[in-house]
Amino acid sequence: MDHRSPGFEGLLREAILRLRRFYQTEAEVLVLTASGTGGLEAALVNVLSPGDAVLAVTNGAFGQRWAAMARAFGADVRVLEYPWGTALNALDVEQALRSNPDVRVLLTTHNETSTGVLNDLAQVADVLNALRGERPLWLVDAVSSLGAVDLPMDAWGCDVVVSASQKAWMSPPGLAFVGVSARAWEHVALASCPRYYWDLTAAREYVQKGQTPFTPALSAMYGLCAALRSMTREGLPAIVARHRRLRDQLRVGLRALGLRLFADDVCASPTVTAACMPSGVSAAEVKSEMARHGVMVAGGMGAFKDQMLRIAHLGHCSPSDIEQVLDTLREALACVGVAQGRAI
Ligand SMILES: *Cc1c(COP(=O)(O)O)cnc(C)c1O
Repeated sequence: MDHRSPGFEGLLREAILRLRRFYQTEAEVLVLTASGTGGLEAALVNVLSPGDAVLAVTNGAFGQRWAAMARAFGADVRVLEYPWGTALNALDVEQALRSNPDVRVLLTTHNETSTGVLNDLAQVADVLNALRGERPLWLVDAVSSLGAVDLPMDAWGCDVVVSASQKAWMSPPGLAFVGVSARAWEHVALASCPRYYWDLTAAREYVQKGQTPFTPALSAMYGLCAALRSMTREGLPAIVARHRRLRDQLRVGLRALGLRLFADDVCASPTVTAACMPSGVSAAEVKSEMARHGVMVAGGMGAFKDQMLRIAHLGHCSPSDIEQVLDTLREALACVGVAQGRAI
């Protein structure tokens, strides 16, 4: 398909229309040809000027990466850091903003994929709304949450919200989505970070014509539109409820296998669950044993690389998938020598 044709225009307009419903926003949602990280970089370079004070809230690998990206573009990054496996506390965010009144941009990760923790952004929204005029621009990494977890961009007052096709949108990798509030566009006009491929103003202009500035990942667009149609049929409330049920089913099953879960129930992610391996058991070994039976899971990240398994349960996922994962994991653990049901 020619990407400067009415056929592509139809795909793009349909994708944007449906994405906006899942973003629960009247704001623009732009579709970039990029992985999620490209979307996060686009968010930064369009609102930042070198030297800007940024508050980055981190509780895992992805939060740390976004802070590092802001540093790479010359921002003066202050970090509010939480241990891996724990969630942010909105009262700390409030205090950090009050003691750093020069902060212009706040970075938060909705769902920390490296640990399986969902941060409570509704509480951050309350804190920011109470700050009124002095509130910083609020950027949200929703790469592994949006499309599976409720994130009402407008109601919460998020300014830039980034997601990516290969996570809850169950599409091929290659597309990033960036929702941009009216307030964020004002910052875009003033920000002086260099940008070219990631120029959201150009992307916005091209959308008027039903195009993208550069060649889009066309094959991924077909997949995305198919996924969005099926998601629209299921409906956001049903999708959100299904992901919570899958999470709960998996957590019960993992505990029944005697495994400790990395995140507490109160902040447990509806899209990814991290289970700690019994001491002396290598996550990589369990992972490859499961892969031999056709079940792909991930190991840990950073210091936890070989100590935990991360199991995705987002997008096209059903209770029988969870059962299959648990059965395969039980066998894999037995294979690497962990007695069934042993307390760990
Ligand atoms: C997957 C993910 C990213 C990075 O996405 P890529 O597509 O690998 O660039 C960023 N943040 C979070 C929370 C993620 O889950």
